[in-house]
Amino acid sequence: MKKNINDFNFFEKKVLLRLDLNVPIKDGVIESTKRIDEAIPTLKALIHKNARVVVVSHLGKPDGKVVESLSLKPVFDYIKEKLPTKVYFSNEIANDKMNEEVENLKNGEVLILENIRYFKEEETCDEEFSKRLAKPFDIFILDAFGTAHRKHASTYGVSKYLESGIGMLVEKELGYLDDIFETSKHPIVAVLGGAKVKDKLKVIDNLLDKVDVLIIGGGMAFTFIKAMKGEVGKSIVDDDQLEYCYLMIKKAINNKVQLLLPIDSICAESIDSEIVKYYNFTKMDKNFMGLDIGHKTIKLFKKQIKKAKTIIINGPMGVFEKDKFSVGTKEILKAIVNNKKAIKVAGGGDTIHAIEKYNLEYGFSHLSTGGGASLKLLEGNGLVAINQIKNKGEN
Ligand code: AMP
Repeated sequence: MKKNINDFNFFEKKVLLRLDLNVPIKDGVIESTKRIDEAIPTLKALIHKNARVVVVSHLGKPDGKVVESLSLKPVFDYIKEKLPTKVYFSNEIANDKMNEEVENLKNGEVLILENIRYFKEEETCDEEFSKRLAKPFDIFILDAFGTAHRKHASTYGVSKYLESGIGMLVEKELGYLDDIFETSKHPIVAVLGGAKVKDKLKVIDNLLDKVDVLIIGGGMAFTFIKAMKGEVGKSIVDDDQLEYCYLMIKKAINNKVQLLLPIDSICAESIDSEIVKYYNFTKMDKNFMGLDIGHKTIKLFKKQIKKAKTIIINGPMGVFEKDKFSVGTKEILKAIVNNKKAIKVAGGGDTIHAIEKYNLEYGFSHLSTGGGASLKLLEGNGLVAINQIKNKGEN
């Protein structure tokens, strides 16, 4: 069992809270505060429970060096305005000075540490560093969903030494992305898209054991179509995965899962070329590549989406960044939103970006905050940092 924040007595306890405060910052200005805003409920709950809270997070990829532009200072400035308590900031990490500062914190106060990736030991999950980081604390709470699939010192290393649990954001994400197959109503329809089939091999394999309908669009569909001897022109294909895709098609038949692939396509000679043509796959010209799904495919996919009681989407249906190849992605997202009776969950950076672009956020039950982590969860083996907390809870 994973412990959550209701399973601890936080009164006077020194709590190390791992958050994902990795927000886009340009010239010291935060461009989107979404990730920080999602972290506030757990922070407020711990303050309310009189814990002494120390926040640890990464920002960008400083590769173990101090990079001024990747300081968490602007995030600290934002958070301190949002919390009803004293909030401090410190560059002292995993040393005696930090221990002293933690000791000096009063109940309900918050200390935010500088970017943990300024230390190379973070990403190598150095044992000694993890031990020093954990030293002054009583409890570790993991609420960094976006990095919970990484075996780093502040996500994984410290929980070996501390009583550990998950925060409210991680709990919410798990509820929608992990427990969904056990708790949700059928038919379950999963929609996968995006460029590369290689990134989603294990996801496809796992989903074929769980869903009723698997819809595959985007660039990744072409490897499947080629595996079935379809004509795909110059479309992106991963020739190393043809056999795997063929096996997955057979698995879908064995498991009685309806596997839907595009039947027509909007094509061009390149992403930037002016001339756009419509093709049935059987006729695709060898100099053209499929860059969006066609109207017949949209109709086919919509029919299943309409009948679903649970829908999961990860990946765009085409190169939606260009208006001329965006219709498929937009229409499929709209169809999902229009199914009012279903639970609707979206994950993956590009998918969330597309949903925001078309102002469809309101129509989803949950938008995942972690791109890589949400995909990893759909592979069916949990997330490494959370699994360790879960195992501790069972001992
Ligand atoms: P991924 O990171 O694998 O989820 O891929 C997202 C990217 O896939 C987006 O930037 C889309 O532009 C791209 N994409 C979607 N469909 C296609 C396609 N048919 N051909 C090439 N790229 C595509």
